[in-house]
Amino acid sequence: MCKTTIRERVWRGDAVVSKMKELNFHDSHDQISVKEMYRLAHVMMQHHTPAWLSPLKSFGLTFEDLQKGMYCLHCFGYTLQKEKWHTYWICSECGNLEREPYLRGLHDYGMLHKRIITNHEAREFLEVADRFYVRELLLSASVNRIGKSKHMRYKLRMPQT
Ligand SMILES: [Zn+2]
Repeated sequence: MCKTTIRERVWRGDAVVSKMKELNFHDSHDQISVKEMYRLAHVMMQHHTPAWLSPLKSFGLTFEDLQKGMYCLHCFGYTLQKEKWHTYWICSECGNLEREPYLRGLHDYGMLHKRIITNHEAREFLEVADRFYVRELLLSASVNRIGKSKHMRYKLRMPQT
């Protein structure tokens, strides 16, 4: 049976460096050698689990299970249609007007699936056929672009960034 407490044995990620320094400045016979540090780092890397857990996986869902298209923020129907001047989207059910419903869709895509998206993937997910229009949406909703022309991919801007 171990006499140490959980707090002594389990360190939060942000406390590892200070704990390591603390151990090194303890008694000289308790110091960790460079070789041991590398071994410890290797073990930590092997057992590391990313903090991000897929919300879809945790509910037993896949990307294909998601409803595609943009929903109305007022009635939650997938009934938004672009008005003729392309400034607003209008809900055919409740008449709600929205300027950027595609941002919600792209944020959902980034949070639930992956943060890098192509024009083709965005058109399929948002259910918007016009690739030139989707290109404009992606330019406004991304933090940077990867690749050129037909192979361009967009790194989506997330709500907190
Ligand atoms: Zn609506």
